[in-house]
Amino acid sequence: MTTTSATPEQTDGFHLVLDALKLNGLETIYALPGIPITDLTRMAQREGLRVISFRHEQHAGNAAAAAGYLTGKPGICLTVSAPGFLNGLTALANATTNCFPMILISGSSEREIVDLQQGDYEEMDQLAIAKPLCKAAYRVLHAEDIGVGIARAIRSAVSGRPGGVYLDLPAKLFAQTMDAVKGKHSLIKVVDPAPKQLPAPEAVQRALDLLKTAKRPLILLGKGASYARADEEVRALVEKTGIPYLPMSMAKGLLPDTHDQSASAARSYVLEQADVVVLVGARLNWLLSHGKGKTWGAANGPKKFIQIDISPTEMDSNVAIEAPVVGDIGSCVAALNAGIGSNWAKPPSDWTGAIAERKDKNLTKMAETLAKNPAPMNFHSALNVVRNIVKARPDAIVVNEGANTLDFTRSIVDMYEPRKRLDVGTWGIMGIGMGFSVAAAVETGKPVIAIEGDSAFGFSGMEVETICRYNLPVCVVVFNNNGVYKGTDVNPLGGDVAPTVFVKGARYDLMMQAFGGVGVTATTPAELDKAMNEALASGKPTLINAIIDETAGTESGRITSLNPAAALKK
Ligand code: ADP
Repeated sequence: MTTTSATPEQTDGFHLVLDALKLNGLETIYALPGIPITDLTRMAQREGLRVISFRHEQHAGNAAAAAGYLTGKPGICLTVSAPGFLNGLTALANATTNCFPMILISGSSEREIVDLQQGDYEEMDQLAIAKPLCKAAYRVLHAEDIGVGIARAIRSAVSGRPGGVYLDLPAKLFAQTMDAVKGKHSLIKVVDPAPKQLPAPEAVQRALDLLKTAKRPLILLGKGASYARADEEVRALVEKTGIPYLPMSMAKGLLPDTHDQSASAARSYVLEQADVVVLVGARLNWLLSHGKGKTWGAANGPKKFIQIDISPTEMDSNVAIEAPVVGDIGSCVAALNAGIGSNWAKPPSDWTGAIAERKDKNLTKMAETLAKNPAPMNFHSALNVVRNIVKARPDAIVVNEGANTLDFTRSIVDMYEPRKRLDVGTWGIMGIGMGFSVAAAVETGKPVIAIEGDSAFGFSGMEVETICRYNLPVCVVVFNNNGVYKGTDVNPLGGDVAPTVFVKGARYDLMMQAFGGVGVTATTPAELDKAMNEALASGKPTLINAIIDETAGTESGRITSLNPAAALKK
């Protein structure tokens, strides 16, 4: 039985939290119930909010982060104190790193006991621990401050560079009562939570002047550009200028990967050769080799960068930025577009021609590889199936994690629509799979295809029960090659199996069957195609155990060089 201390004329902390969320259009909570928030989850459901309950807080947190990215509103994750909070914290830190807006709300122990370290139930100074790992952290001690606390959390999560916010709600707060009318008036409906930030006209002019001098220009689209929902402006920038573009992983589909100006199939060439690069919502971090070195053709001399970003301190973080354009992407790209008249000179044809030539060559080579049908399947033959399925269902959301499974899927499976690809993000983290899949299905109602390495799947695999419980249209494909990277490592001393090896022939499909979903094993592309089509047609939770050659796959996929031992071999 749910208890509340409020009389009809009174309200309490529980209701104020829920009313504040509802007032701000935050109606889905990704949670894991327990002391002191169990009643809050029950009341939330009774008040008409949707509560999606998980098996581990990290996955609830990842779901909230993905919801934030997909909707532009902060995703809400609700956890218990200490251990639950810590489990959610990984997702909060990851969301902040990815610039996804979310709010982690955790119940906490009593301040008086925590601060004197007297050993309360799940005692922990959660606010202090969360602070360095997120964009902002707040604690509310009085019921009348709940409205302000939630308003501050929302603004912090979505304004400027988006990120994760921690909101600490001590157990005692929920049972505090106050006059219902006063309580209602204490709530804040946040007006314009992510205000536009217009770029300075001189910054726009500086960027246009530099772009005009380019002989080999390139536009690089990052997940900030996808998040910004400036799809038409970005497309206009690319098409009006005629400049080749490269999408970062989660910007795939912002323009269809099959677009004529996509330079994805000539990636190394364009990064090496470009002379002026326009970064749109992409950081020059490790994913872009920090903007320097061999990848960027250092031998050809330094590049000139135009960077569009909402965060002024992102500029010059790795290399000099000649033309910083600070503001929201919609406003910045619109301002650039306004300065690009119909007489804008398209890039020289020797540049676009050289790119087209390389693209053709690489695409032909790829088509030959994809057409092969080896037994057992390898990454390519299995992903050729996924590629065709996504082509036929461009509205489906692809969630993708793993090492080789990630790398190959990113390059083989074309995306056609914005914000349809969710993956390991800036950290290259494992474990986002099922959390992101749940949120993608809940927030969009679209089919979700999760392409998972067998190792990556293990981090969140228990959430297949969550997928079944809410009957979500998620089709998980586990690329099963018996281990991390591959399944053939051997312990030279005998005894235990090698650290990277799993149980051979594991039946991941039975995990989904255990909870009432559909589980299938696929050993050929034809079987995989049939199972995926059936999953998409039925919308039933499905797990396909796709058997991949256990010798396929390389150590750490494409980032082998980051292993310390690789440096010793140099
Ligand atoms: P990727 O990993 O795809 O290269 P990053 O996560 O490195 O992308 O970069 C995203 C960038 O986009 C961040 O620097 C962030 O500040 C920026 N950003 C996010 N949202 C907006 C927005 N609405 N307007 C402008 N910049 C944004």
